[in-house]
Order: sequence, then C-alpha cells, then structure tokens
Amino acid sequence: MRRKERRIWGIGAAPGVAEGKAYVLGRRKAKFSKRYIPATQVKREIKRVRTAIEKSKADLVRIKNALGREEINEHVSIFNSHLMILEDPMLLDAVTEMIFSERKNAEWALYTAFENYKKMFETIDNDYLRERKSDFDYLNSWILKHLSGSSEDSLEDIDEKVILVAHYLSPADTARMDREKIIGFVTDIGGRTSHTSILARALKIPAVVGAERVSELVGRGDRIILDGREGLVIVNPSPETTRQYRERGLRYDHLEKALLKERDLPAETVDGRRVVLTANVEMVEEVNAVREYGAEGIGLYRTEFLCLGQGRIPSEAEHYHVYRSVVEQMAPFPVAIRTFDFGSDKSPDINHLRQEMNPALGLRSIRYCLREPAIFKDQLRAILRASAFGKVRILFPMISGLEELRRARGLFEEAKQEVEGQNQSFDPNLEIGIMIEVPSAALITDVLAKEVDFFSIGTNDLIQYCLAIDRVNKEVAYLYDPLHPSILRLLKEIVDAGHGEGIHVGMCGEMASDLRYIHILVGFGFDHLSMVGSMVPWIKKVVRSTNFEEARKLVETLLQGKDSEENEKILSSWIQENSPNITGQVLNAY
Ligand code: PEP
Ligand code: MG
Repeated sequence: MRRKERRIWGIGAAPGVAEGKAYVLGRRKAKFSKRYIPATQVKREIKRVRTAIEKSKADLVRIKNALGREEINEHVSIFNSHLMILEDPMLLDAVTEMIFSERKNAEWALYTAFENYKKMFETIDNDYLRERKSDFDYLNSWILKHLSGSSEDSLEDIDEKVILVAHYLSPADTARMDREKIIGFVTDIGGRTSHTSILARALKIPAVVGAERVSELVGRGDRIILDGREGLVIVNPSPETTRQYRERGLRYDHLEKALLKERDLPAETVDGRRVVLTANVEMVEEVNAVREYGAEGIGLYRTEFLCLGQGRIPSEAEHYHVYRSVVEQMAPFPVAIRTFDFGSDKSPDINHLRQEMNPALGLRSIRYCLREPAIFKDQLRAILRASAFGKVRILFPMISGLEELRRARGLFEEAKQEVEGQNQSFDPNLEIGIMIEVPSAALITDVLAKEVDFFSIGTNDLIQYCLAIDRVNKEVAYLYDPLHPSILRLLKEIVDAGHGEGIHVGMCGEMASDLRYIHILVGFGFDHLSMVGSMVPWIKKVVRSTNFEEARKLVETLLQGKDSEENEKILSSWIQENSPNITGQVLNAY
C-alpha cells in the first residue's frame, strides 16, 4: 500500500529540485557494543532499559500531541502503533529475561528483542505490514539514544545520496556538507537570508528552511521531493507529481545552459548603461565556478567562513595563502575581501566570542575586530600582501559611524607600515570600502562617502536592523521586505550620496540575487551588483532586457508608494508592460 502524498510548506532557501530518500538528523541508528554484565549489575541494567523505554514513549506522546489538525488522520495511526509496540509488556519481558538469564547488556538485549520482532513480521503475507519492519529499527535507535544519553548526530555518518531533514543546521554544517551525498536539505527553523541559506545557494544545494515540524513529520527513508524555489517538501510523492517535477528540472537545466552560452556578453541595458556583475563567495573552492558563471570579480568574500567550526582563527600566513589563491584565480578581476564578520549566526567557537543574549546586536563584526586589534591586523596584513597578486579591495562590515570607520582605517595604516617594514609588496592604491548595513550609517552616507572609495550595501542586515526583524527567525520572516518604502528611500539616499562624492556604489545583499528586484536596482543607478555566483547568468539576462531610462521612472514611481503591497503591484504591472517576455521566462524557469 502506497503512503499518501503529503505537502509541507516552508521558505524557499536555495532553488532547485531534489528527489530522494530522507535522512532525518537526530534519529541516527545509534551504535552500541555487546557486553556481558556481572550479576551485580543486572538490576541497574534493567532499570536503565525501563527508563529509556519510558523516555521514548514520552517523546512519542509529545510529538503526537503536537500534530496539527490536518496531520492527525495521517500520522496519528503511526504514532499509536509505535506506542503500542513500546507499551507491549512482551517487549520489556523479553529484554529483562535476556539481561537476567543471558547477562546481555541493555543495548544488546534490546537489539535482539527487536530483531526477533522483525523476523516475525517477515513471515507475514502483507506488503504493508512487512514494510513496517523499518519501524522496529527506528524505535530501537530511539531507545538506544536514550540509553547512551546522546542525541548527537553527525553528517559524517551519511554514506548514500539523501535529502537531509533536520531541526536546525548551522552555517558550519552546511559548509561541510558532502555534495555527493547531500542532494538537498530542509530544516524546521531558519530564514531566507540566514547564512545557512546563503551558503546553500552558493553551493547550489536545493534547500527549504522554516518548514516548522518537518523533522518530526518525515521519517527516515521516506521518499521526498524538495522544491527549493517554492519552499515545498512533498513526502511520498505520487507518480504524477514526480513526473511534473522531473519535467520542471529539465526546463531549468535547459534555460541555464542557454544562459551560460551568453555569459561573456556585457551586463548592459538596452540603452547602454553598464552594470558590473560580481559574485559573493564564502569558500575558496567556489572561485572556479564563479568564473564559469561569467562574474566580473568577487564583490563580497566572506572571510569569516575560513574560521567557522575550526575553534581557532588562522594565522596571518594561512590567511595570506588563501587570499592570494582567490586573488590569483580571479585576476584581472577585482576581489573585495571583507574583514571578519563574526558573530550573530556565524560564531567561530573561540573564547573571545561568548554566547550573547542578542548576538546580532552584540560584539559582532567590526566591533569584535576593533576589540581584538592583533587578530584584525593579522588579517589586514594578509590582505595587503595578497594585493600584490591582483586587484584587491577591502570591505569593512557593520560600520555604524565615522569613529568606527576611522579606527578601522587607523589599524589598516598600521598594518600597512608593518608590511612595508618587512619589505613585503602590496598594492598602494588598494581601495577601501564599507558595507552599508546599519541604519545609522545609511543615514549619514554623505559624511562617510568622503572617507572611502566605495559603498557596498548589505541588504540582509540593513533590512534586519531597519525593520527590526531577526533574519534567522522564521516567525518574523514575513516582515522581511525589500520593497518596504523605508528600504527604498534608504537605497536612494545611499546611491545618491555615494555618487555625489564620486565613489562607486554596489549591493552585495541578497536583494541583488533576486530576479524580481533587478530592474529597480538598475533604475537606482547601482554601479555593481554582487550575488550568489550561479545567479550571474540569470541576472545578466534581466539587465540586458532592461531599459535604464524606463527603470529610472519605475524607481520614481516606487518612491511614492506608501506600502509594500502597493509597491508589489507597481512592480508587477511594470514588468508586465516593460519586460514581460524575458523576465517572465526567466522567473518561471528559475
Ligand atoms: C548583508 O548583510 O547583506 C551582507 C551581504 O552580509 P552578510 O549576509 O554576510 O551579513
Ligand atoms: Mg551583513
């Protein structure tokens, strides 16, 4: 009997469709050793197994009670049958007997009891019931987890192609994923601009986040289709659904291939306005692909990813070798190396960074670097030395005012003198820019523009701080809105202030990776847009279909809009009138 198709919605974090077996993290088959126990330990061992079974029952009841109304019919019977097995006195009797008379340890006795259950089911002449054998493995590993007292599960244990289902994955987990094995992932929590989602896009791993209780509702081994654009997970898809998704995947591949053929064409509007399209990278391994997508440089290199999960900060020499490799691979195109943006959801697990109540508002980013000048200067010297091998720019994150900028520049000058003192070469004309991602900086860009060579707007944080929404919190994700009038007004001020001082202005936040907003960014007059590498060919297509003068008028209209809803309508009807074919085609296939 085929299980019914079921759809679970979340937030589309990284586009693409993945189809395969679910691997639910945290329900790993626990490992155990077989031991004979002395007579004196029998009582203790029986108590351990009783407690573990009781805890497992309590888990199941909790999960069952948390089921939503529409899930009840479908899942309650599974939970009830699992509970029946755990409550069956024969199970506890069998285990107790083995511990008592055979002196097997609790884990071993439990395993043997479940294996015996499985053998009984093998003889049953009913496909559905025979399939239920896997439920015993599942219950066995659940109880074993309580016996060992561990709930840790590791990505390294995965040894086949799977779609990962987890409550939460950190950016470090995502960075370490083996692409050969993990073909997609879905998590209960998280937002579109969390660093886990950003990495999934960079690594081209289709992903859905914020899918509420998906890690409880999907079973290990369930077949699922994950649609990372729509934010949808389909459990036990019907043959018809599977066919539709396979066709859609083919359409996407087909258009991507066609776009890649045009990767060397300039990103220029129909009326000749040039926009430089660069890529955001987190890891040196991405650089090769970035060139293949036709990016004209790296607009944001998130260097903190070098340290995530390491428990230490690499030395100046280690930084230098990595930066130099990135810069050489990208030459002659520029690489904007952003100094460490630790904190918030990117913690390098080092002593200096303790758990904070509000990490996004805490000792994050440039604040941390100014607090730890020795660490900061190691990085600055490494960047300077790498600048001898190509075109390097420095980007300071999270600048909130002039004083911070001047202190960062002061440390940069010191680092420069130290590199000079060691007779090391560097580019004396290296440009210094700042990220505009804190509202206080956005409101004084006329002042800041006089002291830097360029601005790069980080909309992920700018929107987070301006609209007061935690970018990793699913509950407020609906408020995350680049079309909010406050955001559009800020963007206008920043671009105009930068241009007023003759500096170049770009955007490296996720807004620049979103096909729907490209006409607007062109209309604002951005000089460069930096995005997840794989988006470059798609965005280039949209830029090349845009008329700059028309896009400017669109921006003027949007700046009159009173709320996001009105702005959505203005944008949709503008696309309908001005760019229905290309944008529609690209948006539909993407
Ligand atoms: C941003 O905030 O928009 C940005 C590009 O930086 P990050 O996402 O790394 O915080
Ligand atoms: Mg940021």
